[in-house]
Amino acid sequence: MERPRAQAKALPGGTACDGPCGPVTFHADVTRASPKKTAVVPDAGTDGPPLASFEGLGLSADVLSAVRDAGYGEPTPIQREAIPIILAGRDVMGLAQTGTGKTAAFTLPIAERLLGGPRRLRALVLTPTRELCQQVEGSFRKYARHTRLGVASVYGGVGMEPQERALRDGVDVVVATPGRLIDHLERGNVSFEWLEVLVLDEADRMLDMGFAPQINRLVGAMPRYRQTLLFSATMPPEVEVLARKYLRRPHVVEVTRRASAATTVRHAVYPVPRSRKSALLVELLKQPEMDSVLVFTRMKVGADRVVRDLEHAGISATALHADKRQAQRDQALAEFREGRIRVLVATDIAQRGLDISGISHVINYDVPAQVEDYVHRIGRTGRAAQTGDAYTFMAPDEIATVRLIERVIGQEIERVSVPGFDFG
Ligand code: ADP
Ligand code: MG
Repeated sequence: MERPRAQAKALPGGTACDGPCGPVTFHADVTRASPKKTAVVPDAGTDGPPLASFEGLGLSADVLSAVRDAGYGEPTPIQREAIPIILAGRDVMGLAQTGTGKTAAFTLPIAERLLGGPRRLRALVLTPTRELCQQVEGSFRKYARHTRLGVASVYGGVGMEPQERALRDGVDVVVATPGRLIDHLERGNVSFEWLEVLVLDEADRMLDMGFAPQINRLVGAMPRYRQTLLFSATMPPEVEVLARKYLRRPHVVEVTRRASAATTVRHAVYPVPRSRKSALLVELLKQPEMDSVLVFTRMKVGADRVVRDLEHAGISATALHADKRQAQRDQALAEFREGRIRVLVATDIAQRGLDISGISHVINYDVPAQVEDYVHRIGRTGRAAQTGDAYTFMAPDEIATVRLIERVIGQEIERVSVPGFDFG
């Protein structure tokens, strides 16, 4: 697999590295580095541990041993670039696709910075969805397992009281969706008085979901002198606006890949009339190697219908979408992760940010309306050197969208025609 490359640059109008930025390293292939004070160092350091190791990033033994427990051999490019800068206290804007290890890029240095301090809310992570909240919370617990950091997550769809109790008992880190956190703020369950670090995770997604006013309201209640980290897979103008508003001279760490879709994934497009899509899915699922399949539909009703169609054919499947109760969503995800559910049919909600490792196949039952969504979905497989196949069912009225996707990813996608299903 081709390794993504990291590059660092300054935001237009900002200044790169004009403070103490710690052992920031730049790769020899930096193309957009700020002309100011950027040192190009060879990939192999002259002294100390090699650059491609966690040991050289400034993390303490407690955190390093948790990294070892997680089984990570070497940092991903965004981790290598961002961790020293975050440890040095700078604001960071991290731009990297799904699956590049952004969560550890911020949870590791934050866990490090909070070691040993008094227990009060010092770090807050805002994420777009409940599932992502739980995942980031889990990540903090994993990396802080040799420390005594208190972590709580706060999201809608479940009772306020247990969250309120957790917050009042005292925590160091809160991971929250914006709406529910405002509820707690307004009831006085939480105070930002001691907040040192704010993370906006999946910033593009939060803005897509209309969270800008809530983020604004929350940031308004925070101390001005704080460290702010923003992570995003894409950089539309709205994210840039958000960054300008909340970050102070951010250091931009950008990871680019030559091919924008994950390179370990085999793509294929299946031409099929809309009315035959479920039948084609049933046909494909006859292959035993399709043992962990994530199916995306555009609409909730579509997801429910696909589940019904599969069950009719004797294939058990589960739907994951916003109309399901939180407990049902949690259970579906847990069972899918453990391999007890073979087919999970999801809408947009499961699309980004979720780490569902070990997926063998992603199937776009409907062609995603946004090209970026295609790339994000495909990012669900092929993570951390795994391979996965990504199939897209294309009805006649979806041909134009598929062509657009191909233009954007700069790659022609193979057409696979299954006898009896092709409309051609
Ligand atoms: P992102 O937020 O960029 O989408 P995640 O932080 O969810 O990505 O990480 C994606 C996957 O890669 C996770 O399964 C995570 O455990 C794994 N991972 C993260 N860092 C490393 C590493 N240094 N080595 C191996 N796997 C890693
Ligand atoms: Mg993420």
